[in-house]
Formats: sequence, structure tokens, C-alpha cells
Amino acid sequence: MSRGVEILCPQCGEESFLRREPVYDGFRKTGEKLTCAACGHRFESESEVPFKGAKGPGVFGPADRSRKPDLFAGDEVRNCRRCEHYVVNPFVQRCVLHGRTVEATDGCADFAAKRPAEEGGAADPS
Ligand SMILES: [Zn+2]
Repeated sequence: MSRGVEILCPQCGEESFLRREPVYDGFRKTGEKLTCAACGHRFESESEVPFKGAKGPGVFGPADRSRKPDLFAGDEVRNCRRCEHYVVNPFVQRCVLHGRTVEATDGCADFAAKRPAEEGGAADPS
């Protein structure tokens, strides 16, 4: 229930979410009220709702940055994203120390801060 359906609202022009509220007549559910979560614009029927194109799981756009702004704030966060064992490629994020798939926001007791000197450079230390 917490997952919103993304829409492009024609009223406010925002990338927003569809809000569904059941409509009752007495105790009988007679339908659903479909509104824009941003501006409250009401859609008369589901066919009117301007759904955003269906995205596959794991495909993130720039909009993701604004979704959880506080997670990446601050320098004291000991999460996998800042760990030197964290390796990311277009399909999977992995911890090479544990050999498992992780999220950027995961963390563990073996956290080792990524050294700034190693960032961006593929230099071989030998
Ligand atoms: Zn709207």
C-alpha cells in the first residue's frame, strides 16, 4: 500500500503519485477516488490517469536523488556506498569482502572507509 504509482499530472505538471481512496456508499464500496498526491487533482476514471511509463525494477533515474535526500547527507555514514569493499556496476552492487549483493545504504561491522586517493583512479599500487 505504501508504494505509489507514478503519474505525470496534467493539472500541476509534476511527476507525482496516484492516490487511491475507496469510495463508500454506506458500507458498500462503490468505487475509487483517484487523485494526484501533489495537487489533489481528481481523475474521473482510471483511463484518465496519465501513468508514467512502466519502469523495470532497479532502474533509477535522477528523481531518485530527491526521494531520500537525508540518507546520503553527512560524512559519518558508515554505509556500503562509502566502503572500500563496495563495487558497483550497472546491474548490481556488491561487497567484494563478503561476496554478496548489497545496497548502497547497507552497512556492516567490516566497514572500511574508502580512501579518497583511490576514488576515480584505477591505478595499480604495485
Ligand atoms: Zn497534480
